[in-house]
Amino acid sequence: MNLVLKATQFSALKHRNQRRKDGKTPYIIHPISVAMILAEIGGIDDPEILSAALLHDTIEDTDTSAHELDKEFGSRVRKIVEELTDNNQLTFTQRKQLQIDNAPHLSKDATLVNIADKISNVSDVIKTPPPEWDQKRCNEYADRAEAVINNCQKVNQDLENHFFEILTEYRKA
Ligand code: ZN
Repeated sequence: MNLVLKATQFSALKHRNQRRKDGKTPYIIHPISVAMILAEIGGIDDPEILSAALLHDTIEDTDTSAHELDKEFGSRVRKIVEELTDNNQLTFTQRKQLQIDNAPHLSKDATLVNIADKISNVSDVIKTPPPEWDQKRCNEYADRAEAVINNCQKVNQDLENHFFEILTEYRKA
């Protein structure tokens, strides 16, 4: 519990100046929602996995180093976050393709956080599409997330089912 609260505070501070794609929502709402999806839908109560969920975008999107996470949260949390960090040296297209290609090789811990991340992101795009995105761009986003999830190891049926329910709803609408 203490670790999870500490991760919430750490992540809130690191992301304090960032907003979500809609330009309004404070960024921290996203990592919190990923942790909540793991707990409520996935039935995950492992504090290190929930902490990694809260921290999953800190190396990629803030000045946080792997060393800092290791020191504050331990090596297991650091490893999960590192596995989920895109290489910002690559182009957008390369990064997205790598997410699909790497999905089968993620650890079980990182796979859980990855599926919850895709659930959170796809729900956001469906509920509050970024203002400059047209229908085609939203559809491509959902298709890419589906390709990642299809390539992931099967680690949690409830999370996987939830992802595909959201996607099915979206495509019917
Ligand atoms: Zn994320």
